Amino acid sequence: MKGQIRKALSGFYYVQSEEVLYQTRARGNFRNRKITPLVGDEVVFESTSLTDGYLLEILPRHNELVRPSVANVDQGVIVASLVEPNFSYNLLDRFLVTLEYKEIEPIIYLSKTDLTDETETLQEIVEKYQKIGYTVIAATEDEKAVRELERLFPERLTVFMGQSGAGKSTLLNRIVPGLELETAEISESLGRGKHTTRHVELIPIAEGLVADTPGFSSIDFLDIEARELPKQFPEFVAASSECRFRECMHVNEPQCEVKKQVKAGEIAATRYENYVQFLEEIENRRPVYRKKK
Ligand code: ZN
Repeated sequence: MKGQIRKALSGFYYVQSEEVLYQTRARGNFRNRKITPLVGDEVVFESTSLTDGYLLEILPRHNELVRPSVANVDQGVIVASLVEPNFSYNLLDRFLVTLEYKEIEPIIYLSKTDLTDETETLQEIVEKYQKIGYTVIAATEDEKAVRELERLFPERLTVFMGQSGAGKSTLLNRIVPGLELETAEISESLGRGKHTTRHVELIPIAEGLVADTPGFSSIDFLDIEARELPKQFPEFVAASSECRFRECMHVNEPQCEVKKQVKAGEIAATRYENYVQFLEEIENRRPVYRKKK
């Protein structure tokens, strides 16, 4: 039988297959091959009853996140607040790069817009990112914004993420009533370790699936190679066909269309500055010795 893992808890994997939820376990062969089944995985399994089944095979993953541990994520809602904590272009661009790299479609959700009267800033952020092609939702009227967000859920697996205190748990609680996410927010501030005991579950909402655990709140670029970075900025990709060099990194090369468009104000200066900073971070990091898969 085929199905999708919707929940992982105490060594059991709960697989949804044609409206029925089966409790299964992973056979030893997964451990031997060092494969951990993840919530979101499409799997082949066998089952003699609703509570006695075994996972046989994990079908190829499109992507996977570490926090929360979910595979095959379609879209990520980046919750970015305008105040407390203050809006940061740098942080938003970090989230965007990470999602682009994992081929997860980003949705930018601007929260706490009612706590600031800097409407100019809000307008600037919205226009800047809509121009790139991103979906931006500004929570000016809360319920309206939530409904707008839910319209993007059908047929997709959605994960929420954002800076600590940006309001991702509050938003998730509103979308999935009955969730107790307060503790998750507290353990987040205490550090990573506390997270390991929390299980992840995919909740069916608005004809789609939403991960009930909010995602990472700070990001590094350990995974990304320098030459991959320009590809995670859609507006750079669009401009780069006009760059003189095919592998242009848009920094020191002559006749660079990206730099030209930054100068002309076509590409936002904040985006370019953050790009240059990220590139430096990647180039200056210690070499990472990764285990062979
Ligand atoms: Zn260039």
